[in-house]
Amino acid sequence: PGQLFIVATPIGNLSDLSPRAVETLQQVALIAAEDTRHSKYLLQHYAISTKTISLHEHNEQQRSEMLLQRLLDGDSIALISDAGTPLISDPGYRLVSLVKQQGIQVVPIPGSCALIAAMSASGLASDRFAFEGFLPAKASARRQILETLKDDSHTLIFYESPRRLVDALTDCVAAFGEARQACLARELTKMHETIETRPLVELLDWVKQDDNQQRGECVLLIEGAADSASVDEQEMSRLLALLLPELP
Ligand code: SAM
Repeated sequence: PGQLFIVATPIGNLSDLSPRAVETLQQVALIAAEDTRHSKYLLQHYAISTKTISLHEHNEQQRSEMLLQRLLDGDSIALISDAGTPLISDPGYRLVSLVKQQGIQVVPIPGSCALIAAMSASGLASDRFAFEGFLPAKASARRQILETLKDDSHTLIFYESPRRLVDALTDCVAAFGEARQACLARELTKMHETIETRPLVELLDWVKQDDNQQRGECVLLIEGAADSASVDEQEMSRLLALLLPELP
């Protein structure tokens, strides 16, 4: 059988496509793309003339079966999405799980990913983080999710639509308090790239005051809750300091 390549594409800057990604896209028999018209621009830029076929949210099930057959027949296929790494808040999960069940080799060609780029430049703790995908658009569902995350000690990472940014940040202040550090990473790798890290309530004010911050694409990162063990330790030292002078 052929191999399925999962190829990351740029999240804004066309130069972020690796030489190995270009080679792979040139050599496969078929490229499955989230939106073939959108990807045409990238493929033309790199003079890649491989045939494309669409694979998106609405046809993934049926397309996956057809692509599986092509792989079994010996063709190699590349999967790309509109931007960044496929399967990361993008289609591809059903295809990958189906073809792996059939013993077909799935090969990642790593590259851009907005959450990793944002994490790496945010200044927030990067040893443990939790990617939460998109927050729900509806306020009640969003608040519910944030509530379940308020004691989580991982750095929290969200994809968010800029139109909902002020509402989301307002709900974050309500759930997490004003003081946690938060980072807005906007238009990464593009002309107006902005990576701003401030206490949550200050970030909200800054975004409210500048409409430009409510445009483009963005990632929101929030410092995790102080972990409960270290809170206990802090409390212990405080009590110990109080008690020590009283000891004989
Ligand atoms: N698969 C992509 C990846 O690897 O990052 C994510 C796809 S998801 C449909 C699109 C979301 O990713 C956007 O709404 C935004 O939250 C984030 N994103 C994509 N490109 C970005 C960029 N250049 N700067 C900031 N955020 C970006």
